[in-house]
Amino acid sequence: MHQWRELIIGIFLFLGVANFFTWKEIVTSLSLQMVFLDVGQGDAIFIQTPQGHQILIDGGPDKAVLEELGEVMPFWDKSLDLVILTHPDNDHIGGLPGVLERYHLENILWTGVEKETGVFGVWKEAIAKEPAKKFRASAPQIVKWSERPDEFLDILYPSEAQKAGKPVNDTSIVAKFVYHDTELLLTGDISSSAEQELLNDGVDLRADIVKIPHHGSKSSSSEEFIKAIAPSLGIIQVGENNRYGHPHEEVLARLSRLGIPLLRTDKNRGIFIQSDGRSWRVSDRTQ
Ligand SMILES: [Zn+2]
Repeated sequence: MHQWRELIIGIFLFLGVANFFTWKEIVTSLSLQMVFLDVGQGDAIFIQTPQGHQILIDGGPDKAVLEELGEVMPFWDKSLDLVILTHPDNDHIGGLPGVLERYHLENILWTGVEKETGVFGVWKEAIAKEPAKKFRASAPQIVKWSERPDEFLDILYPSEAQKAGKPVNDTSIVAKFVYHDTELLLTGDISSSAEQELLNDGVDLRADIVKIPHHGSKSSSSEEFIKAIAPSLGIIQVGENNRYGHPHEEVLARLSRLGIPLLRTDKNRGIFIQSDGRSWRVSDRTQ
């Protein structure tokens, strides 16, 4: 369990909130805010807890994440409480070396799964020099940022055993963000084989909102998996006209048949969601 120290951040939050007005939303400080950043083909999700903790999950493919963070964070704020890397593919890790350079990080959580790429080498070197506390994600595990029993991040996958001998996508961190009565499931780039493992293990996947796995790839989002989550909304992080053909039309048809509305960063640009603990409010940058 990672117990974070409570931060006293009155004025800090106020300024943070002012910055969010660019999203044409009225944000109260008593809400959990998440932004699916418009970083092209890749994942990068910014989260701010009501206590003001700032979390970045993945960094997208390149420096686009820095511009996006500049939009959602006050210009003078150069620290992040936690950076999570779900898995070491370029479209998730590519922007992180720049984030490490520009921001002061308190904590880093990643699986320890390695990849033989130039950008992974840069990441590994950067975190070795980084004074932040480093944690190895290994399910089951809980990340806490408050004393309340209903505010936490539940790391559901992978365990140490589940990391071994898998394609990198299937070592992605799957985690449920719980804020009072609202839940959001993060799925990295897992394929239907990891989805099946979670189903076989009887993991409680139910969530109001799901980040659709692997940018809507054909090899993910099995019907059984989506039904077990039973989401009211799916979010796809995907780049316009990407060369992988994400999201796949079969996945879009399946989600439509299951009655799940979708938002996509290639169409909605940045997607901003906010929970008061009972329900979610959703807006996008095109509004
Ligand atoms: Zn990806």
